[in-house]
Amino acid sequence: MTDPPQEPPRDPSPDAATEPRDDALNPAQRETLDRLTAPRDTWPEYDQGLRRRLREHLEGDLSEVAVALSTDRPMRVSKHALAGVHGCEARWLADDDDPSFEASPATVRGSVAHKAIELGINRREPAAPAELVDIALDRLTESDAWMADWLRTCDEDDRAEVRAAAIAKVQSFEDVWPPLKPAWRPVTELPVRADLLGGRIVLAGRVDLGLGRPDGGRAGRVVVDFKTGGFAVHHRDDGRFYALVEALRIGVPPRAVATSYLDSGAIHVDPVDEDVLHAAAARVVDGVTRIVALRERQLEPERRPSAVCRWCRLLDTCDVGRAHLADA
Ligand code: SF4
Repeated sequence: MTDPPQEPPRDPSPDAATEPRDDALNPAQRETLDRLTAPRDTWPEYDQGLRRRLREHLEGDLSEVAVALSTDRPMRVSKHALAGVHGCEARWLADDDDPSFEASPATVRGSVAHKAIELGINRREPAAPAELVDIALDRLTESDAWMADWLRTCDEDDRAEVRAAAIAKVQSFEDVWPPLKPAWRPVTELPVRADLLGGRIVLAGRVDLGLGRPDGGRAGRVVVDFKTGGFAVHHRDDGRFYALVEALRIGVPPRAVATSYLDSGAIHVDPVDEDVLHAAAARVVDGVTRIVALRERQLEPERRPSAVCRWCRLLDTCDVGRAHLADA
């Protein structure tokens, strides 16, 4: 991060009426700021060759598998695809074969909350969580987002359930995040993308929140992923994936990647260095190699049970998953 991390809310404010005062922050908001800030002279500095080294790592290790791909139909690799294939391969393959997805209050509420938080960060006039959620619901209903049809046709009680859950999550966000100063350069839904091997493989995603910016070769940005559920091991890998794509995109990775758990108020902050980026690249190589082999039916999918068995479409016929849930 740049200016915000350097001297957060103690900075003289150009507009004291709209800037948070130190004593206006609750302890959780104060802690969030403290976890994300760092003096500029501690920001890691990267040389011009970083982007080339990461690209050589990825393209060298993926060149063989990319023979099966074309630029007409590139393989798009997201954090979701990587988390899926590094989790239970059988579940990932079943979802990949049939990507149809049934929306429900449980799956829609997180997206509505994300949209409302995004609106709240970017509005010039503050608004209460309920107002933000109502605007988010209207915007998403009129959009071409995946849940738009469901929002247009769901019954009043399902809509009320989504609204209530989303309001609670926006309130949770406001409880643990300080109001974000414009000087901190907050950016929501920041698109990141890197094309590999002439565009045959595309690493892409959207960062929930970016704060700060690089200063030359010095890493000054922090990227934040908001989670509306509980902790999962792959959440840290999600952040590192974004760091890798950002490094491939502009040659300087974020200084740190953070996961903000809205329900608990916890925030996990992981520093980034070149070793972390090469580890993320190795995970991409492994994931892409597995995805290609599974799609080509060259690999028998492994069943790796976990808490997600509960929502798996194969559960009825999966002895491994049912045994795991019975034990749990
Ligand atoms: S039920 Fe669990 S172990 Fe079985 S396929 Fe689904 S996620 Fe994998």
